[in-house]
Amino acid sequence: MANSKYEYVREFEQTDLLLPNTWIVVRIDGRGFHKLSTKYAFEKPNDRSALDLMNAAAVSVMKEFPDVILGYGDSDEYSFIFHKSTSLFQRRASKLSTTITSTFTAHYVYLWPTYFPMKPLSPPLPSFDGRCVLYPTTKDLRNYLAWRQADCHINNLYNTIFHTLVLRGNLSPQEAEAALSTTTASAKNEMLFQGFGINYNNEPEMYRKGSVVYRAYELAPVGVPVSGNLNPDDDDGAERASLSKTAAEKEKKIRSKARIAVEHVDIIKDDFWERRPWILSGKSGILPPTSEDAMMT
Ligand code: ATP
Ligand code: ATP
Ligand code: MG
Ligand code: MG
Repeated sequence: MANSKYEYVREFEQTDLLLPNTWIVVRIDGRGFHKLSTKYAFEKPNDRSALDLMNAAAVSVMKEFPDVILGYGDSDEYSFIFHKSTSLFQRRASKLSTTITSTFTAHYVYLWPTYFPMKPLSPPLPSFDGRCVLYPTTKDLRNYLAWRQADCHINNLYNTIFHTLVLRGNLSPQEAEAALSTTTASAKNEMLFQGFGINYNNEPEMYRKGSVVYRAYELAPVGVPVSGNLNPDDDDGAERASLSKTAAEKEKKIRSKARIAVEHVDIIKDDFWERRPWILSGKSGILPPTSEDAMMT
């Protein structure tokens, strides 16, 4: 095909290839969701249907992108983790962030009527921003996720007591804010319990811990060391580069068969990761036996 004289403008496009062998986080966040939550009368501080819808959209993203190894979400945000070895879109930053963001948004809007059948959407429609953040070590990645889960906890404790003071304590939002401005976490817990008989630890786990989305294989036994290299930081990438096309296809097939779990569990401590070594290793685990398998044996 002949080049037009305008072709030179392509040279203005800048490359945005992300550094190899580093973890990629794509974090999306709802645009103006405070306003949106008022418009559609979300229950405060937590609207369960709104969170279920976020989780359903995240599961759809995981199904469409086998390279996403884990998702973590709370409120109007979700973080999607790509394994450090991923070569999806040649690791182009804008391609990764815009594709994940628009795929999430599309599913969010598509699934909205399932979760809010009595509240049809009208413009301005829900939209999300997205960005790529790189983490050089597995420790940094774990700390990133710990930061988001700790943030979820801090925000939720604050929001729970704020709304309790306003709705049940008859304080104005300004008075509630003032009352909470200097309290520690344990004082907030005490305030909820003494004043309103609410034990914060009995609040639903989805609100306190957020949601973790991942491919479920057979769990590793507790306390038994798993064979093989468990620290992806020891992997220099050479091994993966030599993974044959057939092996890569096989890997993809297993991933597509795995059930996608949505759980509200602690991802700060080691237990979650030790029992699910396939998440950080990036190599699929063992699929649990299906009912068909059981019939054959
Ligand atoms: P920005 O566009 O800068 O992100 P924002 O209004 O979306 O602005 P955030 O800091 O992202 O601000 O906060 C999201 C807000 O959306 C929360 O403060 C809360 O008011 C509301 N929200 C999101 N999810 C829920 C939910 N499940 N239940 C109730 N409120 C929610
Ligand atoms: P903007 O959306 O205008 O860029 P922001 O980044 O400050 O503003 P959010 O998009 O709501 O705000 O991000 C939520 C959280 O992410 C904030 O607590 C912010 O401090 C943090 N954050 C922003 N950029 C990074 C980054 N590159 N790495 C880690 N955390 C970040
Ligand atoms: Mg937002
Ligand atoms: Mg947010």
